[in-house]
Amino acid sequence: MVEHLLAKEKVAGSIPVSRSLFLFNRATSPSGKARLCKSCTSGSNPLVASLLDVIFVHVFFIAIRCFLMRSPHSYATEAIVLKRTDLGEADRILTLFTPGKGKFHAVAKGTRRPISKLAGHVDLLCRSQLQLALGRNLDIVTQAEGRENFMHLRSDLWHMTCGFYLAELVDRFVEDQTQHYDIYTMLLETLRYVDADAGALQQQREKATPLTPQQEEGHTRLRLRYFELHLLMAIGYEPVLANCAYCASEIRPEENGFKAALGGVLCPQCSRHWERRLSLDALKALRYMQRSKWSDVARMRPDARLHAELEAVMYDLLRYHLERDMKSWSFLEMMRKS
Ligand SMILES: [Zn+2]
Repeated sequence: MVEHLLAKEKVAGSIPVSRSLFLFNRATSPSGKARLCKSCTSGSNPLVASLLDVIFVHVFFIAIRCFLMRSPHSYATEAIVLKRTDLGEADRILTLFTPGKGKFHAVAKGTRRPISKLAGHVDLLCRSQLQLALGRNLDIVTQAEGRENFMHLRSDLWHMTCGFYLAELVDRFVEDQTQHYDIYTMLLETLRYVDADAGALQQQREKATPLTPQQEEGHTRLRLRYFELHLLMAIGYEPVLANCAYCASEIRPEENGFKAALGGVLCPQCSRHWERRLSLDALKALRYMQRSKWSDVARMRPDARLHAELEAVMYDLLRYHLERDMKSWSFLEMMRKS
């Protein structure tokens, strides 16, 4: 009986709710200074009350153990912001491209408000270190720290459009939740290249050196073609350039044809299937870009005609695999004419 005496007078208030469930039926002892459990006062078996206490302790520790062993509710990752879409009055849905989880969408709450602390760190094309909380449908960005903002790229319309085009390419061609570390690395290196190119041109302008329209584009046009080709290769759409895509005969160093729907170059014997002519220079350039590192390709100096031909061939391939045009193409064309 002594074991069931509780010395505290004040039961309510300081006792946890779960514990109070076991105490609500305890009554005051005859002395008025201690309490007896109701089972004691009603004459029922005191062992039942003891058993309840033991069960309570076990359940309590099991709950604590489950709490400590549960899966984490948040995670950290590096990411490049590919796209932003407005959500509600103040939020945005971000399309993120990460080295470990590939492409996925997350909510950045309040980032359209001027006072938002996150907004500056989740700009388009920004490379940031993010902390995300697991959400029911979409994960939620809780913290962000910008690592690379590509300021030179943002200060020049042509280079900024190139950057947005790269982001659109990745967004369209890379499937959600599929890891593509090689494409992530390539995108990051290409953004750094375009940013550096914009910075170099800015310095030339500050020296009052007059630049031709082609110089204003820097080397980014060739870099875009290189990115397009290697992006297609990385996702399994590598064009056939060594043999005829129709009859498989070896391609000779002469004018050939090209058809994206057949997968690449066509020999003169298959000219009835040609979609467009492919000059020998363009074929050599494509093959060189296909097998070489960018550091080697960067030494190429294609003229305007070759640039246009390479662009047309790559756009044919991209359009065929995507089954529609890229939004950025019209902007790139507009920037080029200006
Ligand atoms: Zn053929």
